Amino acid sequence: MRRILPGAILSHTQYGYLKVPKNVKSQCPKCGKSSEFTLKTNYYQVTKRGLFAEGICSECKKPSEFVLMFNSNRLNRELEVYIYSPSDLRDPLDQLERNKHIPIDLVRAYRSALNVSQSKDNSAAAVMSKRVLESVLKHFLGEDSNGLSLSQQFQQLPNYIDLTKQIQDVGYLVHPDGSFYEMLELKREIDDETITLVTELLEVLIEYLFVLPEKIESIHDKIEQKFKKG
Ligand SMILES: [Zn+2]
Repeated sequence: MRRILPGAILSHTQYGYLKVPKNVKSQCPKCGKSSEFTLKTNYYQVTKRGLFAEGICSECKKPSEFVLMFNSNRLNRELEVYIYSPSDLRDPLDQLERNKHIPIDLVRAYRSALNVSQSKDNSAAAVMSKRVLESVLKHFLGEDSNGLSLSQQFQQLPNYIDLTKQIQDVGYLVHPDGSFYEMLELKREIDDETITLVTELLEVLIEYLFVLPEKIESIHDKIEQKFKKG
């Protein structure tokens, strides 16, 4: 289930004392496009935690399931919206395959690595994992990877990816003369779409700056610890 942030809720209807989301924006689990859903809430099936709803994608016209959860803060009469995204759960690789920046050979190798590790074929999983690492490095280093060990290639990798670009771009975005900054300073009108984009930006920035580095480090430490003992 994926949370739909308040900025992506375009309209509400009133049901008793509850403000029930009516139109929401979300990536469609069926077609993958960013689209709008008009929710049809099932008021006959109320649980302690919330309500169920169905929404039709404005792009592909296929239905998706939504869950509207009561806020744990009882004074807050707004519901939190979640979209069931079974395709994400079943196969996160489908999304990778749609990403044109990731080489298809790399996605295939990664898929094989996951498949063999799920079938408990550990030696095949090790071989495939090494192939994925090589494929990632080859993608960035190109011919320069020839003759270098995996370790040396990783040492070189930061010279081949501009890890500062995205951060600097955000810096340009919030330049004091820019209209985006004026909006943040409330000197300019803010529309729903902008707020959705801003909250998405916050989410990915926090993920990029705090969550992912910590995850990588923690997995790294566990592996290091394990092989120290052995
Ligand atoms: Zn769709």
